[in-house]
Amino acid sequence: AKAEIGVIGLGVMGANLALNIADNGYHVAVYNRTTSRTDEFAASAGELADRVTACATLEEFVAAIKPPRPVIIMVKAGAPVDEQIAALQPLLEANDIIIDAGNANFRDTMRRFTDLEGSGLTFIGMGVSGGEEGARHGPSIMVGGAEAAWKRVEPVLTAISAKYEGEACAAWLGENGAGHFVKTIHNGIEYADMQMIAEVYGVMRDHLGMDAPSIAAVFSAWSTGPLDSYLIDITAEVLKVSDVVSNRPIVDIIVDAAGQKGTGRWAVIESQMMGVPATAIEAAVAARSLSAMRAERKNAQVRFGLPPQQARREGQQVIDDLEKALLAGKVAAYAQGFAVMTAASAEFDWKLPMATTARIWRAGCIIRSRFLDEIATAFTDTPDVANLAMTPAFSKIIEETDGSLRRIVSESVLNGLPVPALASAVSYFDTYRRERGTANLIQAQRDFFGAHGFERFDADGAHHGPWGGEQG
Ligand code: NDP
Repeated sequence: AKAEIGVIGLGVMGANLALNIADNGYHVAVYNRTTSRTDEFAASAGELADRVTACATLEEFVAAIKPPRPVIIMVKAGAPVDEQIAALQPLLEANDIIIDAGNANFRDTMRRFTDLEGSGLTFIGMGVSGGEEGARHGPSIMVGGAEAAWKRVEPVLTAISAKYEGEACAAWLGENGAGHFVKTIHNGIEYADMQMIAEVYGVMRDHLGMDAPSIAAVFSAWSTGPLDSYLIDITAEVLKVSDVVSNRPIVDIIVDAAGQKGTGRWAVIESQMMGVPATAIEAAVAARSLSAMRAERKNAQVRFGLPPQQARREGQQVIDDLEKALLAGKVAAYAQGFAVMTAASAEFDWKLPMATTARIWRAGCIIRSRFLDEIATAFTDTPDVANLAMTPAFSKIIEETDGSLRRIVSESVLNGLPVPALASAVSYFDTYRRERGTANLIQAQRDFFGAHGFERFDADGAHHGPWGGEQG
């Protein structure tokens, strides 16, 4: 029998996605540039082997799939995707669908749509989140492309996706680059979530002097409350694990320099392009970059030392505030991420469905949480709200957590503990909710040096200042 779908690229994600597809009853053809990897894959397919056709060449691969063919490309993002598309193009026929499921920059996806226009081939840019485990047992799937193309692959994609209370975490989000854009914002939010968890861990470790197992217990307790999420769960898990060699908590041995593959940075770049602040995501990306400058940080500590520690409150009071501060910080990060998507949706004419986006993030992906179910409900109830913070449910959360966030940020600053993402959340709220800002002074400066003009409260139109002197 011919395969119903094909997967190119049998790395971590592609191999698991192919097994997931076979597991759901579909016959899948697979191909990988390096043939030994294809052979290893075929050998590891076990009881799913009769639903897998392993191909040594692209020609064989294309011939093994029943037309019109859906072909998932799951290779390293960037040039390899263009190379694969170029290699496939002469072999495929009209109406075949190429699905790029890697972490593409959505601007590359937009370009690929344009490049393939008129070729007879259909293209889909698909964001996939959930890592190895998600790919194997159910990821969150964010689809961009023609709606008709989505309809053709919807059965298989919903079958392999994660389920939240029975609902598939796969959806069509809009034309062309919509799926990869949403995936980029997902990753930006993921950076912010992880950074704020790390900041809170830092306060417990360096301010309260707690050891890893005690901190693990705090995160475990939080995982049954409003912070209930995959990232809080795995934080509790990793903090519990001891190194087999030294028997010390493994986190105390891991070097404090974070890696990044660039998707968080893209989220920040796109937020800047839209002119929509995503300060918590920016802070998180910057924190990873600063973390990587270990030698410089070491020298600076030698030069400046650490600030003297202030008297601290009773531990449990701080811990209770930390839980609420983390929740407040999350509200800021998600409000910002969704605001960037709202602006991009208008800019690229996507009509991104915000409630649906929150819904397909509730399971399968790295940021999955109870919180996202609340966001989905908030956007369903108030679909046109300008900012998540202005929905009744989230306004209430902000009121209940704002004091804690302020106390944690101020105490951390006084004690020299870096909390850049949490601090950005406070400043974001304080700027967002204050009608009378300070940009009047900036407008005066701009007019003084560049004659850019300003508006007046007491008169219509553009005005210039009576600056006199050389500006006059
Ligand atoms: P791996 O490093 O495990 O595998 C990379 C795959 O890309 C291999 O199949 C490799 O083939 C192939 N490849 C690399 N360069 C080329 C090329 N020039 N031509 C053809 N094939 C090439 O990567 P992952 O599976 O982790 O990632 C795949 C994609 O999924 C990436 O875009 C990644 O960002 C994305 N992603 C990854 C997640 C994760 O948690 N790992 C989560 C979500 C998305 P070969 O064997 O011949 O080297």
